[in-house]
Amino acid sequence: MARYTGPSCRQCRREGQKLFLKGERCYSSKCALEKRAYAPGQHGQGRKGKQSNYGLQLREKQKAKRFYGLLETQFRNYFDKASKIKGVTGETLLALLETRLDNVVFRMGFASSRKEARQLVNHNHFMVNGKKVNIPSFQLQPGDVIKVKEKSTSSPKFKEIRDMAISTPPWITVDTEKLEGKVIAIPRRDEIDTPVAEHLIVELYSK
Ligand code: SF4
Repeated sequence: MARYTGPSCRQCRREGQKLFLKGERCYSSKCALEKRAYAPGQHGQGRKGKQSNYGLQLREKQKAKRFYGLLETQFRNYFDKASKIKGVTGETLLALLETRLDNVVFRMGFASSRKEARQLVNHNHFMVNGKKVNIPSFQLQPGDVIKVKEKSTSSPKFKEIRDMAISTPPWITVDTEKLEGKVIAIPRRDEIDTPVAEHLIVELYSK
């Protein structure tokens, strides 16, 4: 699956907001946004002033896309899927993105970023309901159990998770001893901390 391979910090600087794409570094003084809080590129420091409606909508879409590490077509497909589901499209869109397997592994605290979670899933470290799944976009449903594969439990990465105190959103439970987690519900909007105004994304795609 195609993915963005450029510098992660550049994306945060473009959005003017921390998107937490690099794990622990994002919480340290090494964060690029702490040092250079302006847009990248030659005119980065000059880009100010009022944005048009279209500009605001575009920025929200770009931010959400980057937050979840998706490319345009993948993101658009999620929107199309969300718009066919009964309910508030923007909220459904976020719920679909949140219940991707890579995002859930990140929310479970088993990876320091979505990028790392995607890599762990790709490298066959997880099972869903007892079956091997290595597709980061795998869509999870309430009741699904995500577990580290027996063979991977001895790796230092997962060994250290057993000693960690992990805080998860209310729609996920985690058992660090068993190295597994469970999706207990589809997340509501107030349970998703993604810093986007999703109605602007809906407006953009509805033109
Ligand atoms: Fe963004 Fe993290 Fe880079 Fe800071 S360190 S700019 S939050 S990716």
